[in-house]
Amino acid sequence: MIGKIRQKLIALNKPVSRPVTAIICPICDRAIPNSQKDDHHLIPKSKGGKTTEYLHRICHKQIHALFTETELAQQYHHAQILKEHPEMKKFIEWVSSKPAAFYEKTRKSARLK
Ligand SMILES: [Zn+2]
Ligand SMILES: [Zn+2]
Repeated sequence: MIGKIRQKLIALNKPVSRPVTAIICPICDRAIPNSQKDDHHLIPKSKGGKTTEYLHRICHKQIHALFTETELAQQYHHAQILKEHPEMKKFIEWVSSKPAAFYEKTRKSARLK
């Protein structure tokens, strides 16, 4: 299973065919079309964060559906850390099979309801 995902990631990481100007989502490693470009504060604005990073809208929504602002500020303030969370891994595997412009409403994690 893991091997399969890694193969897919390697395939997606081939830089050759990508225009230099393409913005790559640090969560799912796919190019971000303009229509799906969302600004994410690595540390939430409410916690004094200023640095932002472009993500797909759907990847962005997924992060905020899974983590509270406190968790983001204290622990998950880097794409690499976010990607290691089991729920994010599941999401990334799922979203990687979708077109880059794919978007659907994200369900809130039951934990945050
Ligand atoms: Zn955000
Ligand atoms: Zn993404």
